[in-house]
Amino acid sequence: MSLTDKFGRPITDLRISVTDRCNYKCVYCRTGNDGALYSDLPFSEYLRMCRVLVSLDRERFARITRVPDGFDNVLSGIRAAREAGLWPVKVNCVLMRGFNEDQIAAFGKFAREEGVVVRFIEFMPLEEDRVWSPQVVVRLDEILQRMAEYMPLVEIPHALSETARRYRFEDGVGEIGIIAPVSHPFCGHCSRIRITSDGKIRTCLFSVWDHDLYGLMRRGASDEQLEQFIRDVVQRKEERHHIGEADFVPASRTMVHIGG
Ligand code: SF4
Repeated sequence: MSLTDKFGRPITDLRISVTDRCNYKCVYCRTGNDGALYSDLPFSEYLRMCRVLVSLDRERFARITRVPDGFDNVLSGIRAAREAGLWPVKVNCVLMRGFNEDQIAAFGKFAREEGVVVRFIEFMPLEEDRVWSPQVVVRLDEILQRMAEYMPLVEIPHALSETARRYRFEDGVGEIGIIAPVSHPFCGHCSRIRITSDGKIRTCLFSVWDHDLYGLMRRGASDEQLEQFIRDVVQRKEERHHIGEADFVPASRTMVHIGG
């Protein structure tokens, strides 16, 4: 079943969120105190959590995630993923000015020493506290300039629909990625739709509505009806996000309830 939206973009990627529960309360994502304890998370979910490393020092990690003593667990989780043969292990790092932009070179060093791909993400307005502003965003050009002070990078060609721009250090050791939806939007080649952990289709991270696939399945829809539903939904896919624009409307869900 090939899918193309009304802008001619082939929709070839489906991101499925298995849970919206998380052990952390990162300042760029969540508020409140609910969340699961480690023991009741399946290993795959623990590994997903391990992919989010926001700082390379314990104190700052605790300040950003609002969970004390989480740093070592995440580090051991990343190493466990690598030793389990997962490759490449991608470690996402959301950059926020005033929190961790001074650690960009340290993350480059971490990527080289740990043999993981560190992917820097420009902060997007998908957080619960609505603290986003353009001034807090650390943009791609600044990330490249700061990393080049540590060691020059060489860009790796990538598919237009890929969200991350990829770079290798000039000596060939280590790779980083930069996901820059704010300063270098990639909506023109977007190939994604998502299914949330409660069974709703989202055609864009910044959608202001959901489409209830789970409900349709619960009501006994046939495969043909489900296929037609998905095709109709894809025709309603947004052209692009409007971050930082006057007509920007916050998404109907925050990142923790979308899944990424
Ligand atoms: S913001 Fe929406 S349209 Fe743009 S790349 Fe992300 S999901 Fe695709």
